[in-house]
Amino acid sequence: MIKREFQVPEEERNLRVVSSAYSEEDAAVEQSLRPRTLDEYIGQQKVKENLKIYIEAAKRRGEVLDHVLLYGPPGLGKTTLATIIANEMGSAIRITSGPAIEKPGDLVSLLTNLGQNDIMFIDEVHRLQRPVEEILYPAMEDFVVDIITGKGPSATSISLSLAKFTLIGATTRAGQLSQPLRDRFGVTLRLELYTPDELTKIVKRSAGILGIDIDDYGAREIASRSRGTPRVANRLLKRVRDFAEIVGSGKIDREIADYALGKLEIDKLGLDALDRRMLEVIIKTYGGGPVGLDTLAATVGEEAVTIEDVYEPYLLQIGFLARTSRGRMATRLAYEHLGISYSPQSHDEQTDDGQLKFF
Ligand code: ADP
Repeated sequence: MIKREFQVPEEERNLRVVSSAYSEEDAAVEQSLRPRTLDEYIGQQKVKENLKIYIEAAKRRGEVLDHVLLYGPPGLGKTTLATIIANEMGSAIRITSGPAIEKPGDLVSLLTNLGQNDIMFIDEVHRLQRPVEEILYPAMEDFVVDIITGKGPSATSISLSLAKFTLIGATTRAGQLSQPLRDRFGVTLRLELYTPDELTKIVKRSAGILGIDIDDYGAREIASRSRGTPRVANRLLKRVRDFAEIVGSGKIDREIADYALGKLEIDKLGLDALDRRMLEVIIKTYGGGPVGLDTLAATVGEEAVTIEDVYEPYLLQIGFLARTSRGRMATRLAYEHLGISYSPQSHDEQTDDGQLKFF
C-alpha cells in the first residue's frame, strides 16, 4: 500500500536507470548477485547446454578448455559466465579489458604470468589495439609469445612459451572483431535477451540474496520492464526497494512496483524517457525514417555506439525499430505505443500494412 507521495529527485530522474551499461553503483552489489555455477545461472539454455559439454569434455581429456568468445549486449551476463566457467573448470581467472591493455608489453606480462589451465577474461575484446591483438594470435594458437629484443640490425626475436590457458573474450559486437582474432576462438556463444519469465526468476533470486521482501507479481512487474537485461532488473529492484521502504510497507508487490517505476518514468515495456525521445525524433523529425545512425545520435545527443549497443537491441527485439540499409526506421508498433497515428512520410521501404521490407 502506498502511504504517501514520493518525489524522485531531479538528478535521479536524469540518471538512466534502465541503462544496461555498467555503473560504479553496480559494482559492489553485482559481486554478491553473480551466480557462481552453471546451474545457478538462469536462462541462456542453449549456451549453458553447450558449455556443459565443452567443460566436461575438456576435463575428461585433461585438456584446457578451448578459447571462448561471448557476445551480446551489455548486462546479459558475459562476465558472470566467464567466472562461472573458471569455477566449473576449477581454474583461476584474470579479468581485464581491451581498452585497459595499452601496450603489447602489458599483454605479454599478463600472459607470462598465467599458470596452467588459468583463464584470462578480456572484456570488450573488440577494442584491443592492433599491435596488442597481434600478440594474442600465437599466444592463442601455440601458447607462445614472440618478443623482439634490441633495436635495428641487432634486434632478435625470442619465443617464450606460455602455460596452456583459455582466453575468454567478451564483446558487444562480434562484427567488429578482426577475422584473425575471431578465427582463433574455438567456441563462440551468443547471449540472447532474457524472457520476462527468466527475469522474474532473476529478480526473485536477487531479492532473496539482498533480503528484500517481494511477491511474484512485484517480481514480474520489475522483470517485464527490464528490457530483457539482468543488470537492469537488478538495478530496478534496488530502486523499487527504496520506494517500498519509504512510501510503502517495505514489501514489494505489483502496486508499489508499478508506482515506483512510473515515478522513474519507465513505462510498461521498460522504455524510459530517452528511448521514447529517440523514437519520437525518428517519427517527428525524420518522418519515421530511415535515418542514419550518426544523424540520429547527433539529434538525440547520444554517442552512436551507445545507441547501437544499449538502446537498439531491445527496441529491435520488441519490434519498435527496424534497421534497413539506409538507416533506422520506427515501426507501426512504435507509433502505436507513443500514441501517434501511423503515417510514415517515406513509404518507399514499407509495405502498405506497415511491415518492413528487408533487403
Ligand atoms: P556483462 O558482462 O554481459 O555486461 P554481467 O556478467 O556483468 O554482464 O552481468 C550483470 C549482472 O546481471 C550480474 O551482476 C549478475 O548478477 C546478473 N546476471 C547476469 N546474468 C545472469 C543470469 N543468467 N542469472 C542471474 N543473474 C544474472
